[in-house]
Order: sequence, then structure tokens, then C-alpha cells
Amino acid sequence: ADLDDLTVSLDRAHVFHSWSAQGALAPLSIAGGKGCQVWDHSGRQYLDFSSQLVNTNIGHLHPKVVEAIQEQAALLPTIAPSTANLARGEAAKRIVERSPDGFGKVFFTNGGADAIENAIRMARLHTGRDKVLSTYRSYHGNTGAAVVATGDWRRLPNEFARGHVHFFGPYLYRSEFWATTPEEECARALHHLRRVIEAEGPSSIAAVLLETIPGTAGVLVPPPGYLPGVRALCDEFGILLVLDEVMAGFGRTGEWLALDAFNVDGAVVPDLITFAKGVNSGYVPVGGVIISDPVAATFDERVFPGGLTYSGHPLAAASIVATLDAMESEGIVANAKRIGQDVLGPGLRALAAKHDVIGEVRGTGVFWALELVSDRDDRTPLAAADMGRLKASLLDRGLLPFVQDNRVHVVPPCIVTDDEVDQALAIYDEALAAL
Ligand code: PLP
Repeated sequence: ADLDDLTVSLDRAHVFHSWSAQGALAPLSIAGGKGCQVWDHSGRQYLDFSSQLVNTNIGHLHPKVVEAIQEQAALLPTIAPSTANLARGEAAKRIVERSPDGFGKVFFTNGGADAIENAIRMARLHTGRDKVLSTYRSYHGNTGAAVVATGDWRRLPNEFARGHVHFFGPYLYRSEFWATTPEEECARALHHLRRVIEAEGPSSIAAVLLETIPGTAGVLVPPPGYLPGVRALCDEFGILLVLDEVMAGFGRTGEWLALDAFNVDGAVVPDLITFAKGVNSGYVPVGGVIISDPVAATFDERVFPGGLTYSGHPLAAASIVATLDAMESEGIVANAKRIGQDVLGPGLRALAAKHDVIGEVRGTGVFWALELVSDRDDRTPLAAADMGRLKASLLDRGLLPFVQDNRVHVVPPCIVTDDEVDQALAIYDEALAAL
């Protein structure tokens, strides 16, 4: 308990936190973790159904990943990006092997936001065009262009980048298009995007940037025809399609990439793919852009005007190699898919049948959202004070939740077991009943 007090008092004295007014923060002290559990210095345990910021796909303290980082640290902990490094090449090879055909190269960044920055830069230079279209219900990161491509409230105090235009994507539960079926929502959302493209001037648009499944905005799984429809619109107007797989990629949806589930017969092959989080579960900060061959060829003769001191950092690269190899050999992506289909999805739907406060359950793999409402008929979002009480009650019961607006995102590591899902479902059930 003394160490927890020290941890929190040092934090409150000296650590400046993200996205917050600093005055009233009360961060949880976390000392360690393993698998789906984390604990404080006093040994109080939490079942981690947040995966932190939806990034610890392989769970905490995976021994093979820790060992790979230790081995690389003993060999060569850092080296300039202009060199050739074996761990970096092995990491890039494993990433392109899990990408659609026609993607041969990876540009490594420090995280997701600068992956978006560089994807936007590549799209602009490749097309010679300027504008980037993205959705209001999105989060793409905290840096210059990424935060303005973002649609949610975090964009508004940060609107200093130019050339960004926003539109509405499909979200049947709160349809912007008066739709009542997924087919209607899909067709009308595509019509809306076409009209935005036409009105903005197609020849000025470099890219449409989309999260394959918008995550922070509420795990908004698009209807099956939407992404193929966006791809077709991009082709019609010579626009690049950038899919942001930072949160959805590398296991979260029960696929290697979230786009795999939509890419039937090559219907959704993007031009650029951004990744971070799940690629190494954040054991070392890293992200990047997976580049299709035509875009990569643009920079065969022409200088790519971008770079980072830590691009392809060897500790990050070694952790990617170990993570992807362990995910493969331990069947971790398949586990996420099975858990979603057989255990977590049905379990969450059973909770919705029992608790009127759950307006909608949606998701796939280990990527789910419970949308909470104070009235099921008019779908009024549950009030912030109630969400706060629910969060506190989940923590009291030993579950670390991911709470965003009026939603609980149910996003455990991909290694989660049936037993752990059962424990979590029981805790959600009790906390919802208490609410
Ligand atoms: N893109 C998406 C879809 C994300 O969810 C996030 C982070 O949550 C980012 C980009 C930004 O990544 P990072 O925080 O690593 O910069």
C-alpha cells in the first residue's frame, strides 16, 4: 500500500496526463501484469478487459516477447534507420506476409498517429492532390494532420492542419440517414460519400481515410457492402483508400487484419494500411504504414520527404517478430475469433436480453461495445454520471473496463480464456444490475 501511495503521489506531483484537466485525476496504480490480469503493489488484481488502450492483444508479459526484447537489448538496442538491420527486415517481412497481395514494403513509425501522418503524406505525394476525407466518428491520433483527420471532439481544439474534410459513415443504431436496415444504411452512406466527393471536387482529393472498424467511436462494424462501395468510389475518382488498422489490426477482430473479413474476392484492397498497437502489443512503442507496390514505386526515384530517428527501432522490431510468431504458433488470432463467436458475443447478447440499459451489442472477435441507454425506445445515451458509477462498480468488482462516452467497450486480450470471459460476464451482469 505504501508503494501504491508513493506511485500515485509521484504521478500527481510530476506526470502530466493525456486528454485531461490535470486537477482532479485519480489514476490507478498498476505495478505488474500477466496474461489478462494486472495488479497494484498491494496485490489487488484486476481482470483487464480494456487491453489498456486496446493494444495488449497478446496479453501482459508474454514470455517470448519479453525474451526477444531482452536478447535484442543485449545485442544492439538501437541503430539508425538508414542502416539495414536483421530484426527490422524480419519484422517488415512478417507484416507484409499478413497483408493483401501487392503490399511489399513497410515504413516504421513510433506509433499510430505518425503512421497516419506518413500515410497522408504518401497519398498526397503519390496523387499530387491535397484533400483528405475522413469520418466524424473516428480517431486517428494526436499529431498535426492525424488529429485533424480525427472526427471526434479532440479535433476541435487542434484544427491547425489544412485540407481535411469530414463525412458520416454508416452507424445504423444512430443513423444519420433515416435508415432502418443495414442495406439502406449502406446504400445511403455511400450516396452521401459520393455527394461529398463530387461537391469537394474529386480531382482535389488525395485519400479517403477510414478505420476499417471505427474503434474509439464505438466499434462500428460497417455493413458488408460499405467498404467495397468506398473502394469502388475511390477507383472511380482516382482517390487512394487508406485503411487505419491501428486498433482493429493484428488479431483484435479475430483476423490478422480487420479488412480480411470484408475483402471477399479482392473487393477491399486499400492503397495504404496503417498499424500500431496489436502488432507488438505495445511492449515497445511502434507503428507504421504498409505500402502497396504502386505507391511504393512513386518513391523509387523520387525522395520520400519523411523520417524518424527511431524508425524501425531494433527493440520494437524484435518485439514484432516475437509477437507475430507467438500469435501464429499459439493460435491467438483464431482464439480471438472463436471467443467472439462462441463465448463473448453470445454472452453479451444474453446480458442485453436481461438488462434494458443495454441498447445495442455489436462487435466481432475481442472487439465489442455495449451501447448503454436510459431509454431503449428513444435510445437516449446513458448519462455521464451513471457511466461513472458503472465504471467504479466494475473496478470495485475487480474488472478493469474500457468506458467511452455512453459505452462499455469489451476488449480483452486475444488470449482471453473461456473462464476469464465467464468471470467478466458475471461482473458486468452484477454491475449492470446494481446500476
Ligand atoms: N488510429 C486509430 C484507429 C487509433 O485507435 C489510434 C489510437 O487509439 C491511433 C490511430 C493513434 O495511435 P497512437 O496513440 O499510437 O498514436
